[in-house]
Amino acid sequence: MEHTDVPGDLTETLLTEQQIQGRLRELAAQIEIDYAGRDILLVGVLKGAVMVMADLARSLDRHVEMDWMAISSYGSGTTSSGVVRILKDLDTDLTGRHVIVVEDIIDTGLTLSWLISNLRSRGPASVEIATLLRKPDALQMRVEPKYVGFDIPDAFVVGYGLDFDERYRNLRCIGTLSPHVYS
Ligand code: 5GP
Repeated sequence: MEHTDVPGDLTETLLTEQQIQGRLRELAAQIEIDYAGRDILLVGVLKGAVMVMADLARSLDRHVEMDWMAISSYGSGTTSSGVVRILKDLDTDLTGRHVIVVEDIIDTGLTLSWLISNLRSRGPASVEIATLLRKPDALQMRVEPKYVGFDIPDAFVVGYGLDFDERYRNLRCIGTLSPHVYS
């Protein structure tokens, strides 16, 4: 759906569909250069990364494998604690693989930091991160994504896979949610 299908729900469209697709093509081009001659396993984190995974993978003019993990972060409300439980593990053995973790957004980076050490313990050849969005707090964390789509301000955003209460994931753009939706 478009932002016009949810009139008044977004205070601002942060990124249009065209901006997102254009940037993903740039990231894909860089990945093709960096991984020339090496197999790639893209690991998507459910559910938010579904759209990024689909479009990033299709922007790559080469073979890639895709696998998925679902994790849940224990925390109070919207605060992430970094304590994580695996709800769905990978089907793929990571031994000797070149892994790129595909994320929608890095906020505190706590969840991702746990995930990366978990994946590194499985004997991959390399583990890197590609995230569409990064918030300012993530800059203070140890997680260093190799590929970042956009650095965005510290506001709650929805769309393009990102939800509020399981809604707005199918919005084509990314926007900031109007307070009247959640208050
Ligand atoms: P972190 O551990 O980096 O703080 O949490 C990352 C997760 O929090 C993301 O994968 C996403 O599910 C959620 N999250 C963080 N910021 C936002 C946001 O602005 N909008 C939405 N919809 N989810 C967010």
